[in-house]
Amino acid sequence: QAKLAGKNRFHFFDTANDRSLREHHESLEHIRRALREREFVLHYQPKVNMCTGAVIGVEALIRWQHPEKGLLSPAAFLPVIEDHPLSIDIGEWVIEAALTQMEHWHAQGLNIRVSVNIGARQLQQMDFTQRLGEILANHPAISPKDLELEVLETSALEDLQQASQVIESCRALGVTLALDDFGTGYSSLTYLKHLSVSTIKIDQSFVRGMLNNPDDIAILRGVLGMATAFHREVIAEGVETVEHGELLLQMGCELAQGYGVARPMPAADLPSWAAAWRPHPTWSNRQACEQD
Ligand code: C2E
Ligand code: MG
Ligand code: MG
Ligand code: MG
Repeated sequence: QAKLAGKNRFHFFDTANDRSLREHHESLEHIRRALREREFVLHYQPKVNMCTGAVIGVEALIRWQHPEKGLLSPAAFLPVIEDHPLSIDIGEWVIEAALTQMEHWHAQGLNIRVSVNIGARQLQQMDFTQRLGEILANHPAISPKDLELEVLETSALEDLQQASQVIESCRALGVTLALDDFGTGYSSLTYLKHLSVSTIKIDQSFVRGMLNNPDDIAILRGVLGMATAFHREVIAEGVETVEHGELLLQMGCELAQGYGVARPMPAADLPSWAAAWRPHPTWSNRQACEQD
């Protein structure tokens, strides 16, 4: 009898599934508490023009300032809430926090465009644009054109029609849009036609592979050619070295983001960084740059 009870207990209460389900609920609870306790912060990574040295904007990237574990990157907690309504609450917090930060920078005389990442679930939200409009209305000093939304190419492809509608209605608000991690979603020319984004962000995997893989160069050239044909701006992600930048410039790509320019930083560090930053001389001294 004892043996049977033990077996049943194992079967009903202690399977790996139950355990992971319980852990999942606990994680959700921790994240919910963290949002309440204001433990999330945004760091900001600059986007620059390698020719002119202009800082064209910053991307807001979420971090969790965990009381015990320290600063956690999004990979440590975003996957937990991916399919949960909590991701919408956090998404709205991100937009709100970014706009508030822009107001602080404005007060310091720094006018800078900010991009925020939009999760797949946010994009599927029926009243996303309406909520965005309400948040913008709470920040009348910020022009909607200084806000950019980064939508993952893969989440746009999940429901192309919904994505293209959201993108269209956000554009109507005056907000601009970028397709993030471009090249990882196997999208074709046809898809791009339906998505009225102004910017394409080339995924870092291609930039990383560029120095030793001719295929990645070919992909980069293809994306750049296509973007030009569609009148879209292109920015390369993951520019880690001077060489990456040089090669991209040779291919006609002037906009860059990556550790080779700057790592994501706390908001307070940005004004002095922006004042001091100069492009690498081999980037800005190119003849092609001087013709701009
Ligand atoms: P992403 O939007 O493609 O952002 C770029 C990621 O690459 C960031 O990682 C950034 O720190 C990192 N990165 C930038 N330059 C370099 C480089 O030169 N080399 C390397 N190896 N990495 C570089 P992070 O901050 O860990 O964010 C990872 C992803 O999490 C983001 O990818 C984005 O998809 C997501 N994410 C971040 N913040 C948010 C957010 O507020 N909301 C949503 N929905 N997603 C977010
Ligand atoms: Mg992004
Ligand atoms: Mg990206
Ligand atoms: Mg990414």
